[in-house]
Amino acid sequence: MDFKEAVSCLVSDIQSYNKNLNEKLLREAFEFGRVAHDGQTRSNGDPYYSHCVAVAKNLAGKKMDTDTIITALLHDTVEDTKVNSEEITKLFGQDVANLVAGVTKLEALENISEVSKQAKNFRKLLLAMSEDIRVLLVKLSDRLHNIQTLHHIAKPEKRIRIATETMEIHVPLAELIGIRDWKEEMEDICFNTINPDAHSSIVGRLKFISKEQGDNIVTNVVKELDDLMTEHKIKNEISGRKKTPYSIWRKMQKKDIGFEQLSDIMAFRIVVDSVDDCYRVLGLIHATYRLVPGRFKDYISLPKKNNYRSLHTGVIGPAGQRVEIQIRTKEMHEFAELGVAAHWSYKSGDKESIVKEGKNYRWLRELLEIVEHSNSDDEVMSDTKMEMYAENVFVFSPKGDIVNLPKMATPIDFAYSIHSGVGNKTIGARINGKVMPLKTELKNGDQVEIITQSNAEPKEAWKNIVVSGKARSAIRRFIRNKRRDEYVEHGKSLLMRTFKSAGFDLTEKDIKFLTEKYDYKEPEMFFVAVGDGTRGVNESLYAVHPEARETDKKTKETPPPELNKGKVASKGKSSLIGGLPDDMVIRFPKCCHAIPGDKIVGVVSTGQGISIHNVRCKEVLKEHDIQNSSIDLYWRDELIDKEKVIENVNFVARINVLASNKPGALNSITTVILNLGVNLSDLKIVSRSSDFWDVNIDLEVKSVGKLTEVMASLRMSNDIISVTRL
Ligand code: MN
Repeated sequence: MDFKEAVSCLVSDIQSYNKNLNEKLLREAFEFGRVAHDGQTRSNGDPYYSHCVAVAKNLAGKKMDTDTIITALLHDTVEDTKVNSEEITKLFGQDVANLVAGVTKLEALENISEVSKQAKNFRKLLLAMSEDIRVLLVKLSDRLHNIQTLHHIAKPEKRIRIATETMEIHVPLAELIGIRDWKEEMEDICFNTINPDAHSSIVGRLKFISKEQGDNIVTNVVKELDDLMTEHKIKNEISGRKKTPYSIWRKMQKKDIGFEQLSDIMAFRIVVDSVDDCYRVLGLIHATYRLVPGRFKDYISLPKKNNYRSLHTGVIGPAGQRVEIQIRTKEMHEFAELGVAAHWSYKSGDKESIVKEGKNYRWLRELLEIVEHSNSDDEVMSDTKMEMYAENVFVFSPKGDIVNLPKMATPIDFAYSIHSGVGNKTIGARINGKVMPLKTELKNGDQVEIITQSNAEPKEAWKNIVVSGKARSAIRRFIRNKRRDEYVEHGKSLLMRTFKSAGFDLTEKDIKFLTEKYDYKEPEMFFVAVGDGTRGVNESLYAVHPEARETDKKTKETPPPELNKGKVASKGKSSLIGGLPDDMVIRFPKCCHAIPGDKIVGVVSTGQGISIHNVRCKEVLKEHDIQNSSIDLYWRDELIDKEKVIENVNFVARINVLASNKPGALNSITTVILNLGVNLSDLKIVSRSSDFWDVNIDLEVKSVGKLTEVMASLRMSNDIISVTRL
């Protein structure tokens, strides 16, 4: 990179939107950064500083203020060069120094797990963001460039690790702050890195559709829409594009659709002058083209969590294709493109308003609250990821206030979103005036009223019913405080027994070692984690005495032959389920094949133990009527989230596949399944006509996540018409 040219180019980029740029200062910062990184290179051999310049350029593209762009140029100096914070303060001011410090990762985090490092850095980032939200813009721009250059990293595992982290943390943050194009670009590259097969078949399919429809299809539709607007004298700007492979993949995973039905691959945007015009255009479109049911969304009346506003609709558009149309005003459009940056960027250079802006984000406050009250790094990451999950459902309070919750939220999530005090005292809920179970999934527009009782307490099973990180974190906190003493006791004696039976004493030194190794603030917290099952007791034993693992393996290698498979497996399985009474035998009845990730309920039948059903299973109602004793159960997600699901314990899920009766169709089904490393335990042909195969397949999986992946991959095969879970 020619740095002389680069700096001039950057200056003219900024001057195009900011006439008051302090050019001298910017050039000084540029030179300062260049000298500091001199001699360092990126993995492709480019000078390291080219990365900092690219990060600055991205931010200039978002019309950011000078301090932010200077920060971009210097963002890696403190972490990777001899420069220190004092120097930056002296030369470029306190604000820039604080911003750089905010972007800098914690140094020297050694001897702790990857998730602990991630959690500690994430906590630091959130705190810095709450001081000054511009830190997030620099961080995202930095990540965007690292993702754009991800292919230069040689090791595939490293690429996948970075892509996964980006998907889990940076993509949702970009969504929350409303920078759509960065979000989409990161998503697509990460998707291609993590799942190259799926990516390439979607790209292939898109090419095929384009060929069928003709290359000018987007232009043609734009023209037809434009004619319609002109005819009705509505001033507007229309643009159209193909959807990204990742957004198509998401849709295939979420909805039960196959590639064949996936004609909806184009999106159009109509930008008009006023809110009135938005609704006029909407009326016009609906009057002219046939509506696709379920696709209309009014984000003007009910903005998204990140304040995004727009009308969305889906119609069978010009040329008989399904298309998505977004209608919005110029202001809404600016916000949709620039996100939060639209509000302040270079215009309001004053720091006060920016700081205030950051404090206004409810999502940021809620993330901070979770981080501050979490007990361990695992909890920080799992609860915040849950909270960042972007899709929403809108419900109403009894007074008519809109409450914005994650999709599939329950009345319990609603209660906790009001206040954790309300959540903790909840005993019931009225939805649209009717008393409904607390695990009911809320739908858009529901009116929800919470029934509380002053001496009520949250139930442990709620942890797995709720879908908001805020609710889960609050429930954990309550239960932890209440059960703490109990768990300390239990955890400690469990450890002592386990150590003893392996022939060791549990010493003070061991306790100190384990507390530090697993990163708990104090030994009591470690005992609690062992007591409530978050931290495995054998894992702790092996950490101190690795030789014990060998002995254990040997004794386990030869299981008694006729201790039948079912019993051994269900023992393993019962340890994954929370809320079970002691020493009960569990069964997984064939009616619904519940697997980790499903919401579950247990039905107790005398002499037969507990059968574990999916809450949606119709058999539950029948059994429940007769026996009248069901118990709330939940998957111990802390064991499942991290794929710590016990080795060799698999769950059987049944799916139905409808495939065209072509040679090789069955073979392609099994190939897809086996390629994903999933075992196929049974395949039954339900019927076979001249056109179709109708088959039921039993798959051995560890969780719903894997099952969804299998189903989505099957749907991409050209021979497969539909895939449904049974
Ligand atoms: Mn960087």
